[in-house]
Amino acid sequence: MFAYRLALTLPLLIAAGWLFAKKRKSTYWPFVWGFIFFALFAFFVELVPYLPSYGGYVRYVVGIVLTVLVGRYAIVALNAYLARQKLAEQQPDQVRREELSYDVALARLGKSVCPGCERPVDLKNDEIDFCPHCGIGLFDHCGQCETRKSAFPKFCHACGTSAAPHAPLASASGTADSVTSGSAPLPAV
Ligand SMILES: [Zn+2]
Ligand SMILES: [Zn+2]
Repeated sequence: MFAYRLALTLPLLIAAGWLFAKKRKSTYWPFVWGFIFFALFAFFVELVPYLPSYGGYVRYVVGIVLTVLVGRYAIVALNAYLARQKLAEQQPDQVRREELSYDVALARLGKSVCPGCERPVDLKNDEIDFCPHCGIGLFDHCGQCETRKSAFPKFCHACGTSAAPHAPLASASGTADSVTSGSAPLPAV
């Protein structure tokens, strides 16, 4: 009986292991994960209870392995996040501003925190142009009309000039260019 069940579940487990290793991030990941859970269900419900002493020790082993794996993953992920954050704060101002997603930056500004380091900054104080915690530029001046403006929006709120990086270059090649070609001007800079 056990050999019969093993013959049914082993191919499932092997297929699930292969899918987990190769395809868990593919376009079809919902199907992949569905199959993996199905295979795990088949293993624990269809096979484990037929092991000697109802396979109780299998659950202990799986529990210990899962605890170790999850704990290790959490520690590694936290360290990687801290390292990324540290690296990001060492980048030049311009690079950091380009790497931030526009909507993320706006959402953080809306919460009165620095878009770069997420620490609180007084955005209403018009003497503060840079984040005092990480040094990212928060306010600059329009290349066209010199109005002081937030450094993140894509256009000047006073005159509508595109706030694309390196204003002299953008105005030389024409702003219509950079609007029609979308993200193409970035590599040129
Ligand atoms: Zn900051
Ligand atoms: Zn302007």
